[in-house]
Amino acid sequence: MTIFTPKALAGKRIIGLSFPGNGSMQVGLEPGILNVLPPGDNVEFSPRTQKFNDSTVGMYMCSVYIAGRREFKEWAMEHDTSKIVVGSYDPTMFPEEYLNFAAKIVMGPCNDIWATLSQEDVVFQRAFFNPTDDFQLAFNPQTLEPIKDPKALKELLADKKRRPNNSRFKKGKFVSDVKPGREYVNDRIIPGVLDPAYPYLPRYDLYNVNNNAQVIPDMQSGQIVTSVNTSFGCIYNCSFCCTPLMFDALVSKPLGSLAREVALLKALRPSFLFIKDENPTLLPDFEERIKIIATPGAKIYMFSSANKLTKEVADIMKKNNVYMVCLGLEDPRVTYEKNENLGGAIELLKERGIYTYLSYIVNPLDVVGAEEGQAFYTLLMNKLRLYKPEMICGNFLMPFPGTREWDKYYQLISERDFIHYDSKTPFLIKNEVARKKMEYYLFWYQWLYYTSDFYKNEVREFEVGDTLHKRFVELKEHFDRVMSGIVGVRP
Ligand code: SF4
Repeated sequence: MTIFTPKALAGKRIIGLSFPGNGSMQVGLEPGILNVLPPGDNVEFSPRTQKFNDSTVGMYMCSVYIAGRREFKEWAMEHDTSKIVVGSYDPTMFPEEYLNFAAKIVMGPCNDIWATLSQEDVVFQRAFFNPTDDFQLAFNPQTLEPIKDPKALKELLADKKRRPNNSRFKKGKFVSDVKPGREYVNDRIIPGVLDPAYPYLPRYDLYNVNNNAQVIPDMQSGQIVTSVNTSFGCIYNCSFCCTPLMFDALVSKPLGSLAREVALLKALRPSFLFIKDENPTLLPDFEERIKIIATPGAKIYMFSSANKLTKEVADIMKKNNVYMVCLGLEDPRVTYEKNENLGGAIELLKERGIYTYLSYIVNPLDVVGAEEGQAFYTLLMNKLRLYKPEMICGNFLMPFPGTREWDKYYQLISERDFIHYDSKTPFLIKNEVARKKMEYYLFWYQWLYYTSDFYKNEVREFEVGDTLHKRFVELKEHFDRVMSGIVGVRP
């Protein structure tokens, strides 16, 4: 068995990978695995999910998003799985899926990999995934009943006194009260350890920031864009969102740790800087944090929930280089708690010359048929005309396992759909022609908005050659090609 300690791995390569990796250079922003890779000269990050020579490698650290599960498994089958450690959202929700492909499966957030890998506790039963209701794998050590509530599971893991390391469990083995017909795994599925001091800096030194690419207004190709995390989690519990599944409470980095990280980013001379936090305006010391993040002088863009965007918060943003705020309109027919006062929040931003980025969700099942589609998109376009966002982004509904949306749609989803969790594929629709048409209409209404006289006269100029404009011209050419033979075809 491979031993994962700094001493045992000295002189061996430790390689970080993210899935999906496209098999080519990744684009986007710095991958999350950089936050977990430990210090050391033997640590590297591979932007490609290529084949490695196992004999030189001591540990592969793999972060797997739901869309990358299949790619990860195929890659793992070509490598020594006793050297693979896997974590992130998908292994957190489905640890059992990874037992044949990894030596250790880390559940939940982690920023101290050595402390995480030193644990031996047993907490999970084997193979009880049943999407009808019973996909929680943990069980209560007192009653031996499965724990279905992800929050209760996390509480159990966090509470050392209640953790099942007493007489029922010894050195990773379940020794009594075994329920007939159930099999128990030993120390291979472990909770991630999150050190509240955040002692380690993300390994951005292992990553070429030129790989980052963002489609945002006013950014020119070739300008440097980078990112920072100051907190994780969110107090809201929107029905479609998987953030509360990974982080059941809001946790933030100490200011000193954040300042050290931002100093690293400053050396990259970024023109744009994205705050990756799900909801940074929830933090009571938001002003102190944004002041630190503003020190590189980059244009900042960030998420916020509209209900936290007060006049004071908007003033703080303006003073500290915030140039765009991403607000989720989500389903335009629903009013979310976080979106109370959405119009007022956008008004505050507009008064200060800060752009608004409005993303929205299209449930593909609600736009089947011409009438339904037209009704939905008419409502959406009316909302866009009302709010006048500088940037918009349409996404198809992606029910994540563990969320309330999953409970409504699981019967329409099978594992082969996971590869389509990219928000641009309406995988709830199984008819290929209808699916292609929906993809086109998702694009088309965004194109209509950007190229309208309304956008030009009331919002901003679209044709300025920035990454937003260039990307949409590319998409237009793509859809012109793809849709020419399909638009008139009845599914
Ligand atoms: S406010 Fe945003 S991050 Fe929080 S639960 Fe809702 S969608 Fe997720």
